[in-house]
Amino acid sequence: MAKTVKKDLVLSACVEINCCKLLVINNVSDLTLQISELKSLGKKIGFVPTMGALHIGHASLMKRSVRENDITVVSIFVNPRQFNNPEDLAKYPRTIETDIEFVEKTGVDIVFIPEEDDVYPVNFSVPEVDLGRLEVLMEGRMRPGHFDGVVQVLTRFFQLVQPDNAYFGLKDFQQVAVVRKMVEYLHLPVNIIACPIYRESSGLAFSSRNQRLTEAQKEEALFIYKSLLKAKELAKKMTPVQIAEIMKQDYSDSSMELEYFEIVDPVTLESLTDEWTPDAVACVVAYVGEVRLIDNMQLN
Ligand code: AMP
Repeated sequence: MAKTVKKDLVLSACVEINCCKLLVINNVSDLTLQISELKSLGKKIGFVPTMGALHIGHASLMKRSVRENDITVVSIFVNPRQFNNPEDLAKYPRTIETDIEFVEKTGVDIVFIPEEDDVYPVNFSVPEVDLGRLEVLMEGRMRPGHFDGVVQVLTRFFQLVQPDNAYFGLKDFQQVAVVRKMVEYLHLPVNIIACPIYRESSGLAFSSRNQRLTEAQKEEALFIYKSLLKAKELAKKMTPVQIAEIMKQDYSDSSMELEYFEIVDPVTLESLTDEWTPDAVACVVAYVGEVRLIDNMQLN
């Protein structure tokens, strides 16, 4: 069983004798104490930030971190500052008890589950990061303030956890680009490691939001994966703009509501029109009922 540890943390001793159990840490001061102890022992720290409602996609990041680092820290925090829609925040799945059991099974060492006041104390100074065009493309355009919230939470967590390596899923393709830009801009000493998208055998990308779907809606949501496969096939003979048009038509003929389908350059994330660039990525956001789903696929 995982236990919540308060002041007298024992992880560093456990690491030495290799008897590590999951530590559940709920506040910044305990985490700080623990990290400084680990750093003084020269431990390599891997970090996986999450918003909980954990699934196999998250586990793939955690397992990779466990393999590549001495210590893995997972955070579970539904960051209000990255939600531009209060209803979306209120409905975001929260399954903390099962999440802790889930994390324990992956071999993670520390799970950090802070309160909002602790993450953002009154004297929290909001980092200034120029994300350039990333702020106005795709997710930046559709969710104003979203990446600002992502930058705020990650600068705070990186400062607290001091990871050598931080793991992010390519499912949030633009987020990976934002995090890389943030790290470069602030000169943070952390490697950003992008991990592949994990999908159910049907092809549906694992997502915390899938918990809000009925079985019938999960079937419907498969349309997204199928549309990406179709785009990949069409990429052999059509231009990006032609494919995007076909996709818009396909979605309007379907039961799903399309927010955007864009074929983008993998580095700049600018939409491609008549010319292909290597490793172009199709990025899609669509709604099944009220649930907003995001996915992407490399096309060529
Ligand atoms: P979230 O809890 O949704 O903020 O996700 C935490 C991390 O897990 C992010 O880096 C996501 O990109 C990643 N992630 C979520 N779903 C998947 C998936 N299906 N495959 C791989 N990574 C994922």
